[in-house]
This record gives sequence, C-alpha cells and structure tokens, in this order.
Amino acid sequence: MHCDCGAVEVSMTGAPKVHAYCHCEDCRNLLQVPFHSVLAWDPEKVRITRGENFTRSFQHPQKKMTRVFCTQCGEVLYNTNAMEWKLVSQLLVRKTHNDQLPESYQPSAHFFYDRRILDIEDGLPKK
Ligand SMILES: [Zn+2]
Ligand SMILES: [Zn+2]
Repeated sequence: MHCDCGAVEVSMTGAPKVHAYCHCEDCRNLLQVPFHSVLAWDPEKVRITRGENFTRSFQHPQKKMTRVFCTQCGEVLYNTNAMEWKLVSQLLVRKTHNDQLPESYQPSAHFFYDRRILDIEDGLPKK
C-alpha cells in the first residue's frame, strides 16, 4: 500500500484485529471524516517499508492520537489511537488495490454508533 505520490509504502502483517466503521468524535476530529473506515493492527504489524524519511507523525494537541502522513503529498498513511493501535483507512487500501478490499478487511460492524453524525442503514451490527 502506498500514498498518492508513491514516495511512502506501508505493509501490514496478518488480518486486522478490527475491521469496522467507527463513529466516535475522536476519529472525526483527527481525520475530518463523518466516520472512520477502520482497519486496526497492533503497532508492530504495520511497517513503513519505503520512504520512511518522507513521513511525519503529528501528535494531536489534546488527544492521545497521531496522524502519520507523507510529507511529499500529504496523504495520511495511518493514524494511531490511545491504545497505540495503528489504524489504516479501508479507503486507502481500496484505492491502491484496484478498488478491492480483501475478505478479511471487510467491515463487520459499526462502533460508537450512538455518537454518530450520519445514519447508516446497511444491516451490519451496531455497537
Ligand atoms: Zn506521498
Ligand atoms: Zn473512532
């Protein structure tokens, strides 16, 4: 998986521990999205395999979260949360895999649905 300009490449090992949609306000605040299409791994399972010198990690001023992005094109490659998980967007995976999402990455649920700003009716369980 790589950023828009191709300077940075990121590889994930194994299936994600969480593959879901997150409707919490922290994800919205960090990423400016109505909800986050989350693929979450333990930190050691997501590695920058090319162009680490073109990455920067921005620590959110209040929350224990970071955005790791490419300094050449600005694309966010992943973010981290308070548990230090690394969260990759399903949309970035799709974009770099011919608009396909592997079976083990398919969203299984909506998390923090009670905190949503957008209603979703897709039949997935809501937690
Ligand atoms: Zn880039
Ligand atoms: Zn969230």
